[in-house]
Amino acid sequence: MRKIFTSIFILTSIISSGQNAAIEDLWKLYNSQDLKEVIEKAKPLIEKDPNNVDLNLLMGRSFADQADFKNALPYLELTVKNDNNNSWQKAWALSYLGTCYFMLQDYNNSESSLNDCIKLNATKNATNTAYGQALLFGFNEFYKTWKIVETDNFRFHFQDMSAAGVEKYISEREVAYKEINGFFKSTLPKKIDFFVWESREDAMKVLHANLGFSKPNFCIVHLYYQQTIGHEMTHVISNYTTEIKNKTRFINEGIAVCFDLSNQDKLKLLKDYIAANNKQVAIKDCWENGDKYGEEILYPLSGLFVKELIDSFGKEKFLEFFKNQTYDNAKLVFGNKLDLIIEELEKKINT
Ligand SMILES: [Zn+2]
Repeated sequence: MRKIFTSIFILTSIISSGQNAAIEDLWKLYNSQDLKEVIEKAKPLIEKDPNNVDLNLLMGRSFADQADFKNALPYLELTVKNDNNNSWQKAWALSYLGTCYFMLQDYNNSESSLNDCIKLNATKNATNTAYGQALLFGFNEFYKTWKIVETDNFRFHFQDMSAAGVEKYISEREVAYKEINGFFKSTLPKKIDFFVWESREDAMKVLHANLGFSKPNFCIVHLYYQQTIGHEMTHVISNYTTEIKNKTRFINEGIAVCFDLSNQDKLKLLKDYIAANNKQVAIKDCWENGDKYGEEILYPLSGLFVKELIDSFGKEKFLEFFKNQTYDNAKLVFGNKLDLIIEELEKKINT
């Protein structure tokens, strides 16, 4: 009898250690971001073991990381339900649920998932991530007094603005959205959550960030109320025009400056800067080393250049290039005329 028990014990140990090894391999695969492969390999395993916490979390995270939030939900919910040890798996499932519900515009469930993750305090990384998301998504205590106004394409959050101010502000942004998206023809996964701050100091204190900025993956904008109408919303809208495989700071900022809908004379700004600092601009260097340049040069220069590209080659060609924003890809899409355009623009700016 004892022998039978021992054999059963050994057999179940082998099966479970075999499964553990498979799960370990799946986590390795997940960490290498081979998400389609994770889903493919986890599917047959989860059919045999539908309540397995790791397998559900692997499936949920892999779907969510590919922006398939709807399919991620049931797996993440099962992870939370079945993780009776309140371990790191539950914590990450809650943090991911916060994102998924937010992207599906279920703001109440998003907020409660993030709060549950923070309260659980199971692992530092998950807790910090959830706390950061709650701040970014507008769920922190700090936003309790803010006014939320929903329109066709936005969910505005105002820190402090008069009713008349709000009305003018949102109608200008709705008009701008239609104008900008007339170019990109993007389909956004949700309305843009548009946070309008009255105080840059408060944003620094609460978000630890300089205004304004956007998080296109979440369709979120945080900005100072006096910033340009179009810049930040263009970052979000343009992100969904096509699958962008390679972003460069030069082109990505250039498109936002190009559609900022301000009347700033970018050529004059640039010429003044160059004269004051006794410098010359080199477009290719700024393109390839965008991170080394300050906004005062990179913004007007990239804005002028992107406008030149659109004017010279047309919208269709430009959007074809926009997927992979490197100089090398521009050469492939636009051909030799590209260097001519760069040369002429540099001449116009530097002299
Ligand atoms: Zn920008």
